[in-house]
Amino acid sequence: MHHFQYLTPQSVDEAISLLESHRTRARYIAGGTDMIVKIKEGKAAPDYLVSLKHIPELDRLVYDRETGELHIGALVTHRMLETSDMIRRHYPIIYDAVSCIGSVQIRNVATIGGNIVNAVPSADGTIPLIALDAKIHIIGPKGERQEELQHFFLGPGQNILDEGEILTRFIVPPLLPHTGSAYIKLTRREAMELPILGVGVIISLDDDKTTCTRARISLGVAAPTPIRALSAERFLKGKSLDDTVLEEAGQIASEESRVRDSIRGEAWYRREMVRVLVKRMAKRCLEQIKTEQP
Ligand SMILES: Cc1cc2nc3c(=O)[nH]c(=O)nc-3n(C[C@H](O)[C@H](O)[C@H](O)COP(=O)(O)OP(=O)(O)OC[C@H]3O[C@@H](n4cnc5c(N)ncnc54)[C@H](O)[C@@H]3O)c2cc1C
Repeated sequence: MHHFQYLTPQSVDEAISLLESHRTRARYIAGGTDMIVKIKEGKAAPDYLVSLKHIPELDRLVYDRETGELHIGALVTHRMLETSDMIRRHYPIIYDAVSCIGSVQIRNVATIGGNIVNAVPSADGTIPLIALDAKIHIIGPKGERQEELQHFFLGPGQNILDEGEILTRFIVPPLLPHTGSAYIKLTRREAMELPILGVGVIISLDDDKTTCTRARISLGVAAPTPIRALSAERFLKGKSLDDTVLEEAGQIASEESRVRDSIRGEAWYRREMVRVLVKRMAKRCLEQIKTEQP
């Protein structure tokens, strides 16, 4: 295997200056579950790996009671999210997604930041955060910026980060009242596998719990980048969500997807499953709202 030097900066500024001083010969590493595989396979050959693991502020998971915002540090592992009672209770869509990533061993080290920066259309962690309208906070050699997560992806494996930039955290805006959320990863078998399709749905209802006030539908492996099914979301807003309406929303989402054939599944099957799973996840959201604690 290619040899590299492993550097352990203690702050974001130190990490950025280390990367700048070694330029293209250096890469950031978080949990390493993607990076080390790439090095082993000869797809990456950095001379320096700049670890983000020792930077304390990057692995914070904080729900701000005053603003209702959720802050997820980029170095938070999938396992930290999976085992958080707060996440399980208030953000079932995140729980559903992270608890099906790889194995417990992978989830113990793999981070949500690494999952998103990789920018593969099959990344399970991406879909819930897009549906939740998450923003991302980025720090780099030229300063700080905030962007919408849904605009982060430029194509398979490509994102908007400039050289030396670090994704530091995700900011999830407050949930509306009476909200349910769910994610499903469609795989061929019950084993460690990347999804044929990933479907996330969030539904909010009015105080009478009859009319949809907001809908979010996000899809993975349904296009070259993760996408939102915007027409289906618009269709649901303001409607009473009976079976016929949900069926129609699934159909619209299916028509919006830009699926293709791949080794894991054919386009026609993905399109059909978008239709089925959008409806199924929406029903799960409605069930959560119906049984919510006062
Ligand atoms: C056996 C196995 C099973 C897997 N199963 C799944 C699965 O079911 N679903 C799924 O979605 N993924 C899966 N993965 C992929 C991988 O585990 C996840 O994508 C993981 O979240 C990557 O995070 P990491 O911290 O390990 O990333 P790393 O490997 O450390 O980094 C990945 C990339 O992101 C960059 N990077 C990391 N963090 C930052 C940051 N904060 N700022 C800027 N750049 C950064 C690195 O430079 C690198 O290019 C699997 C991997 C393995 C090996």
